[in-house]
Amino acid sequence: VEDTRLSIRSLIEYGESLFNPTVRLGVTGLSRAGKTVFITALVHGLLRGGRFPVFESLATGRIARARLEPQPDDAVPRFAYEGHVRTLIEDRRWPHSTTDISELRLVIEYQRQNAATRTLTLDLVDYPGEWLLDLPLLNKSYEQWSAESLALSRREPRAKLAAQWHAHLATLDANGREDEQATLTAAKLFTDYLRACRDERFAMSLLPPGRFLMPGNLAGSPALTFAPLDVRQDGTAPDGSLWAMMRRRYEAYKDVVVRPFFRDHFTRLDRQIVLVDALAAFNAGPEALKDLEGALSGILDCFNIGRSTFINSLFRPRIDKILFAATKADHLHHTSHDKLEAILKRMVERAASRAEFAGAGVDVVALAAVRATREALVQQGREKLPSILGTPEEGEMSGDEVFDGETEAATFPGDLPAKLDDLFSGDGTFRGLSNAASDQTDFRFLRFRPPLLQREGGEEPALPHIRLDRALQFLIGDKLQ
Ligand code: GDP
Repeated sequence: VEDTRLSIRSLIEYGESLFNPTVRLGVTGLSRAGKTVFITALVHGLLRGGRFPVFESLATGRIARARLEPQPDDAVPRFAYEGHVRTLIEDRRWPHSTTDISELRLVIEYQRQNAATRTLTLDLVDYPGEWLLDLPLLNKSYEQWSAESLALSRREPRAKLAAQWHAHLATLDANGREDEQATLTAAKLFTDYLRACRDERFAMSLLPPGRFLMPGNLAGSPALTFAPLDVRQDGTAPDGSLWAMMRRRYEAYKDVVVRPFFRDHFTRLDRQIVLVDALAAFNAGPEALKDLEGALSGILDCFNIGRSTFINSLFRPRIDKILFAATKADHLHHTSHDKLEAILKRMVERAASRAEFAGAGVDVVALAAVRATREALVQQGREKLPSILGTPEEGEMSGDEVFDGETEAATFPGDLPAKLDDLFSGDGTFRGLSNAASDQTDFRFLRFRPPLLQREGGEEPALPHIRLDRALQFLIGDKLQ
């Protein structure tokens, strides 16, 4: 029945798209990768005509106008575009990040290259990348997942973050009677551990179950209240035991959370951008980098599996282009943008070979959806060093200086090596980023406030960006020919 329902929906969507071409563009990435800022900047640029020289249809004047329209899905929250723009431009604050799926529909009126007038409907679907990393759970039993999660949590740097949860786990008797309070505590400590791994000092990426960190509207429900137990992989849970209860909830998580997301949202996407905060991982060290690569291959796996098992109908749209984007490139000098792209490209290639990925066209870009910095040469002793200027957020610190959120400051961005392997020195130790000014490897980026914009007459100012137009050209340029 479900399959028929899905086929009918695909058929309707296919029929609609013949008369009214529609692209469903998924925007994903792990928490704080930059999804909210990306969508806000992209929509703002299309609505108001941003400076997008590489986005051909806009640059050559073939896009007449773009407007927002009510979205097609009634059960999905609307992306809060207007509020986010106001926060970004008027308050000069970053908007609240993605915590759940949301959607926004944009209609673009344009002229084809043969001068005929057409419209393209662009549905943007914003969802946490953590949710994609849940896909492998579908093929895993509770016992397998427990064993894997425990093994991972016993490796550094995770082990020290897991200490409290491990201590509680040692007090639990898996075969004892089911116990709601013990389960609540275990789930809380396990979630605290996952959250600590996500902290910027560790910047771990592979942390399923994804909803534990990004619960959306399911926070506090039993399907999200379970944790791994130290049980035998081939054992059976006694009736009424703690083990049986955890296992039941784990299965519920797959049924009410994971499957519906893939069925109702993921398989309906045509194009996908995956945002990656690679700089955060470079900063945190080799474990974070390895973890990120694992997450990338997990994400690529989804596109593979998405093809073979879910998509069995000719009519169903499918993802044919994926763009991996390293975000926040405005933290680097422009001489490093190509290097950032090259490093991410290498990571994606390695991840793709692990995931035996084949199919969709993949590209990589380093971008800043909103450029919060400018470049300058700053005298340091005898040298003039390339640096970036921006307004550090209130409370940010550099050396002894604490910023007030108003004063501009120059910083020397970390310098990227040209190749991924060069992040490591010859003996395999992690070099990370080097800072031109102090030659420290442990270099943390300052957080900058969004840029101060000058109004051009009465008109809403354009947001500065880096390579956002290149991303747009890859993602929808061919649909606007
Ligand atoms: P999400 O969790 O993926 O929705 O991430 P957000 O879009 O909320 O971005 C998280 C944070 O990253 C923001 O609050 C900003 O501090 C920072 N950020 C995101 N995009 C940019 C960018 O283009 N430039 C700069 N400088 N910072 C950014």
